[in-house]
Amino acid sequence: MAKIINGKEVSASVREELKKETAELVEKYGIRPGLAVIIVGDDPASKVYVNNKEKGCAEVGYYSEVYRLPAETTQEELIALVQKLNSDDKIHGILCQLPLPKHLDENEVILAINPDKDVDAFHPVNVGRIMIGDYSFLPCTPAGVMTLIESTGTDISGKECVVIGRSNIVGKPQAMLLLHKNGTVTICHSRTKNLAEVTRRADILVVAIGKADFVTGDMVKEGAVVIDVGMNRRADGKLTGDVDFASVEPKASYITPVPGGVGPMTISMLLRNTMTAAKNTIK
Ligand code: NAP
Repeated sequence: MAKIINGKEVSASVREELKKETAELVEKYGIRPGLAVIIVGDDPASKVYVNNKEKGCAEVGYYSEVYRLPAETTQEELIALVQKLNSDDKIHGILCQLPLPKHLDENEVILAINPDKDVDAFHPVNVGRIMIGDYSFLPCTPAGVMTLIESTGTDISGKECVVIGRSNIVGKPQAMLLLHKNGTVTICHSRTKNLAEVTRRADILVVAIGKADFVTGDMVKEGAVVIDVGMNRRADGKLTGDVDFASVEPKASYITPVPGGVGPMTISMLLRNTMTAAKNTIK
């Protein structure tokens, strides 16, 4: 029987720390971390994420601004807003909620964000910094996964780590973070042959595919730490992960549930990056 990794609890303790750090930063330096979030259009899921980011800021005592722009916003208007925020000293972190409406160029928007304020760590400068292991901002979801693994007391060094998924926001940076902790890392994807053979080698298995209940018990080594990044909606509207919890949980040593595992961590890691950005401005 696996121990359940409680993402809500770990996330709450991260926010407690950030609250204290905010109070110290305000008292010592007169700096209150500030996050600006831009949302274009009215994608319902994006609205929920943005509201949660705003609430997260309030919870840890940050200053925040949310720009809710109409779907017909032009590229020029969006870039102009990013540039204004780049030079606003109250704002330490800038985040543009993705996906953007189809007529807007996401890459150009990411490139316009000052890398020192790029708290999503999507700018190529920050992606490069993550690659060479010299970075301030951690990509939020993979950083949440690392914090959850660390919360189990598992030493990653020398362990077989398998990541399923190679997206730029989860799989690839996840593999890098595990590598920086001296894991022996394998990245799997849709063209991987004999996937189950590879995943059965994993002491630490991170799954980020986007397919409900894809990883089953027969694909998991006895005693593995299993982290489920997936967020899928079942036909009945319920949220479910990429891991078939019922068959994997009896084999794993630790496992994250969905909901309540990786999900709650992502915004806390964004708040952590915003704190880092604010501290980096101390002269
Ligand atoms: P993505 O961009 O769609 O990437 C999915 C990856 O899974 C791709 O690399 C794909 O391989 C691989 N894949 C698909 N089918 C596969 C198969 N049958 N066998 C092996 N690999 C397969 O997705 P993403 O953005 O990384 O997100 C993954 C999941 O995590 C989604 O459910 C998403 O909702 C969730 N997510 C959660 C959070 C959170 O905060 N909890 C944050 C971000 C994402 P190819 O590259 O070969 O196509």
